[in-house]
Amino acid sequence: MSGKYLGPVVRPADAAAIAEAARLLIAGAPVALPTETVYGLAARADSPGAVAAIYAAKGRPSFNPLIVHVADLAQAETLAQFDERARKLAGAFWPGALTLVLPLKDSARIAAAVTAGLPTIALRCPAHPVMRAVLAATGLPLAAPSANRSGAVSPTSAAHVAASLAGRMGLVLDGGPCATGLESTIVAVRGDGSWQQLRPGPITQAQIAELLGPESRAQFDAAIEAPGQLASHYSPGKPLRLNAGKAKAGEFLLGFGSLAGDFNLSPSADLAEAAARLYAGLHCAAASALPCIAVAALPCEGFGAAINDRLRRAAV
Ligand code: AMP
Ligand code: MG
Repeated sequence: MSGKYLGPVVRPADAAAIAEAARLLIAGAPVALPTETVYGLAARADSPGAVAAIYAAKGRPSFNPLIVHVADLAQAETLAQFDERARKLAGAFWPGALTLVLPLKDSARIAAAVTAGLPTIALRCPAHPVMRAVLAATGLPLAAPSANRSGAVSPTSAAHVAASLAGRMGLVLDGGPCATGLESTIVAVRGDGSWQQLRPGPITQAQIAELLGPESRAQFDAAIEAPGQLASHYSPGKPLRLNAGKAKAGEFLLGFGSLAGDFNLSPSADLAEAAARLYAGLHCAAASALPCIAVAALPCEGFGAAINDRLRRAAV
């Protein structure tokens, strides 16, 4: 795959670029797009060849299944079995940063590599206007993992995508920086009446538990099944020290609040802002001449649970 493309070409996500992206996607090529979480590398989910191009561009292991993006609940229901709880979650949080893992319908036209052979499928209806326009223009469900080399820091700008996937794909739609900046929360809704958060994210476990109520049992200790939960992920390629009080010699410090550091994730100690700037900070630290990275302590509540989850994996 490497060397096949000269680009990618980065184009502002205007109407002409969106039409060109839809044309390429329908023809089976991958295209990188902004979403409200991170930039995604999209391809039509019904085409084995198009899906293979995502795995090849990212260097992603084939056992790691992809999230399929849909225009709305009606399209989602053609692919997966929704029960009342799944409809309730979709009703409350779609379009938005919640991915639902649900039983795959036998009739769903989805390339087998998308689900890595699992009997379930991960579905999300995104809120970003560019991603929504592309979904509408193609009329297709689009598989889209984060638009970076597998295992590396996720992209929250078109420039991050172009740097990570240089020579590996053709077109990036530039929609500016991602507003949320962290990957979606993943929740499995199971046929036995239970549910499980597989990946923490912008929508908190407490929000899910409150919506589903005590009659739907939460599982907190089941086996890992989302490879995004593997210990090492989001790697900046340098040693990373957590909960730093100040920078040691040779460290690039990602600060928070009054601990400014070299790149302050949020001068006002706002966790949503820190989430939105986290990957930009890690990209900046990775690009600096300093050989190591340190990160200030961040609170664990709200967005903090997902931020600390990503930082722990980046530090392995
Ligand atoms: P990414 O798109 O790179 O943010 O990663 C997608 C995440 O969704 C990975 O952690 C996958 O393991 C997870 N995922 C996708 N499909 C499924 C599924 N059917 N069951 C459980 N996890 C899934
Ligand atoms: Mg990813």
